[in-house]
Amino acid sequence: MKKIEIDHSTLSLENLKNKKITLIGYGIQGRAQALNLRDSGLNPYIGNISDHYYDDAVSDNMPISNIEEASKDADIIMLLIPDQSQPETFQKILKGKPSQNCLIIVAHGYSIYHSNISMPETFSIGMLAPRMPGAPIRDAYLQGTGIPAFFDVVKDKSGNTRDELISLAHAIGFTKGGLFEVPLTEETEIDLFIEQFYLPLVIHSARIAHDFLTEEGLNSSTVLMELFASGEIGELLTRASKNGLYETWMNHASPTCRFGIKRAVENKMPSDSIKEFAKNVLLEIRNGSFNKDLTKEGHNGYTNLLKFEKNNIDSSFTKNFEKTKKMDNFNR
Ligand code: NDP
Repeated sequence: MKKIEIDHSTLSLENLKNKKITLIGYGIQGRAQALNLRDSGLNPYIGNISDHYYDDAVSDNMPISNIEEASKDADIIMLLIPDQSQPETFQKILKGKPSQNCLIIVAHGYSIYHSNISMPETFSIGMLAPRMPGAPIRDAYLQGTGIPAFFDVVKDKSGNTRDELISLAHAIGFTKGGLFEVPLTEETEIDLFIEQFYLPLVIHSARIAHDFLTEEGLNSSTVLMELFASGEIGELLTRASKNGLYETWMNHASPTCRFGIKRAVENKMPSDSIKEFAKNVLLEIRNGSFNKDLTKEGHNGYTNLLKFEKNNIDSSFTKNFEKTKKMDNFNR
């Protein structure tokens, strides 16, 4: 990972002024990036299916049409739709006949990593992968700051891909947050790994802890407060992003807490099985099993995912959290 040093005083957007820049998708990423591009003096064009996001773009006075039409003669296409929809949508993009030397930009390496999209030989490919959802990207831009992003020149047919990616990153606000050169393969594997290893451990261990402790007769609201509802752990993690993970706990937690962590890590945690889990997660990303399952799930309308999420929302964990929120007035 290498930080790109940018001299903001000399960075110009002239290389993008006469380009047709089309953003496919006006959702979480698309809306924020399009508004920032427009406020930076560029003229983004939107392609979207007909849904409430389409209406949002109309309310924002963005030029918009269906995906085929928006792709016509596009010099740069930013693919800002869910990864699973990209292969099918890419067929519509091609039917629209983008410019022969079009630069396709992805916000996550997924589709390229798994070769889910076959690109015409003459196209260039770049990655501009933000490290935050759309709302913080927009908020930071409006405050004159930015959020970090990873970028990579995946295929440079035009000879201009790097400069165009950096200019776009500048126009969206990423250069102020930190633009880091990261190979697409690395971005994809790490991003998927964190989503499939670290997040399930954090989220599901909260559920296991809650369900176990309430079965043992302890009060649900008190457990939820300690787990995450008080905001204490969130606050510590925010500090950790600035000061370091171990340093934060060393400086802000009591010796009782710190000794408890040490003792559990050394004596009680099933570290070997957790490592085994980590190995399997990476293996299934690399051998395409996860991609195969996600594709199948997407084709089935995410039925299993929606069922899993409904069970979580209907659980006592969620219901008790709602009660806890009311008790606490939730002033945070
Ligand atoms: P969204 O879920 O917000 O969807 C974006 C748009 O795609 C919406 O307009 C959505 O409409 C539309 N869409 C959904 N399905 C289809 C389809 N089958 N055909 C055409 N359009 C469709 O996506 P995100 O902004 O979250 O993600 C876009 C890209 O950015 C992805 O590659 C993602 O990995 C990446 N990314 C996302 C981040 C995030 O925080 N969200 C962070 C970094 C990268 P509708 O919902 O109405 O179907």
